[in-house]
Amino acid sequence: MNTLENVRLGGTSTEGGSLPPVGKFWHITDLHLDPNYTVSQDPQEVCPSAGNQLVYNAGPWGDYLCDSPWALINSSIYAMKEIEPKPDFILWTGDDTPHVPDEKLGEAVVLGIVGRLTNLIREVFPDTKVYAAMGNHDFHPKSQFPAMSNDIYNQVAELWRPWLSNESVALFKEGAFYSEPLPDPSSPGRMVVLNTNLYYSNNRLTAELADPSEQFQWLDGVLTNASQAGEKVYIIGHVPPGFFEKTRNKAWFREGFNQEYLKLVQKHHKVIAGQFFGHQHTDSFRMFYDDKGAPISVMFLAPGITPWKTTLVGVVNGSNNPGIRLFEYERATLNLQDMKTYFMDLRQANAQNNPRWELEYQVTEAYGVPNASVHSMQAVATGIASNQDKLQRYYVYNSVSYDTTACGKTCRTEFLCAMQEVDFKAYSTCLNNAGARPGLGGLLVLLVMLLGLRALLEP
Ligand SMILES: [Zn+2]
Ligand SMILES: [Zn+2]
Repeated sequence: MNTLENVRLGGTSTEGGSLPPVGKFWHITDLHLDPNYTVSQDPQEVCPSAGNQLVYNAGPWGDYLCDSPWALINSSIYAMKEIEPKPDFILWTGDDTPHVPDEKLGEAVVLGIVGRLTNLIREVFPDTKVYAAMGNHDFHPKSQFPAMSNDIYNQVAELWRPWLSNESVALFKEGAFYSEPLPDPSSPGRMVVLNTNLYYSNNRLTAELADPSEQFQWLDGVLTNASQAGEKVYIIGHVPPGFFEKTRNKAWFREGFNQEYLKLVQKHHKVIAGQFFGHQHTDSFRMFYDDKGAPISVMFLAPGITPWKTTLVGVVNGSNNPGIRLFEYERATLNLQDMKTYFMDLRQANAQNNPRWELEYQVTEAYGVPNASVHSMQAVATGIASNQDKLQRYYVYNSVSYDTTACGKTCRTEFLCAMQEVDFKAYSTCLNNAGARPGLGGLLVLLVMLLGLRALLEP
């Protein structure tokens, strides 16, 4: 039986409308457990993930200089259960281990932590399908993902076997990526889970390869098949393409890989109903455009659960409040209806010793758009680019309401360019244009400049 027939049969079997047209799913990412976090009065003893920084007044729910204590992670997963206990599925996009040198971890410790978090999620959501992707911290040595089968892919595939088909287990053992139809037969949809750690600029093993693990070729095939089967697809992964908004010129993929990914999105955007990634620990999104500048796809980057202050050069005050994210989508089309971010105000949680999770914002309400479609998110992007209040709102949400300082001129340029330009050259042009996309306005400026130049050259 081909996939199309499967979908049709699935559709028939649920006729009578047992399921409402709108479903929900969670997206969580970057849990980064620090197993050695201790509430100590000695500022050197609180957490190895703070490195040499001293941690004063550490609280039971975590600290902005540290990765997550177990209590924080536990609380986040149970908060999901309380807020929405019956999601259609859960997206979990990786990074489970603490930010400490490789020498302090090792393969067994890394796998032990991945296993601990896997067990917790299974315990709290025993009947929910989880689509899990590996993060660059879920390997030893970190970020060095090989483009071939290895012991770690094998062991993680076994840990996640309860969530995977046999075919996916086999594929995962080769390259840590897979694709599966969505669990509910009334959703003619597919989840594609990528291993974008293969494209990460810190990965030395894949630097010289054109198509590591032939994942691009595989993705092209999956998206082509989905198109023929009338399926829509969500793509998830850990390391995102494009640039980090909290500094300048910081891309995550190597340039060639970034180009190739962008090419595939442009080719197949009609079947891609959404892209969901992590790694940055910040809340933001990326717009994708076709050659003519029309918006074709949107990528949502979920904030981390870890509040850990990044040590990335050029980033100032890079902590965040812990965040978890719930999407609403139309089951028949996979069209995104809304996105809600829930968070723990870590200062308050520690001060009151009460781990409260509350709604931070919901995208439709915050930006006045009808849903979370490409069209709506383009309206959000335009709003952020043209209205200082919306930019400031986006900036505060970016750190999950941790950093409420003003987003000035430099910040504005960096945020706008990262949001709108995934391509390397377009990003650099955007920086030169102080955040503006090339459009009619840009063309006019160019025309005036050229005319002016001609006038100067004329004798
Ligand atoms: Zn991370
Ligand atoms: Zn990461």
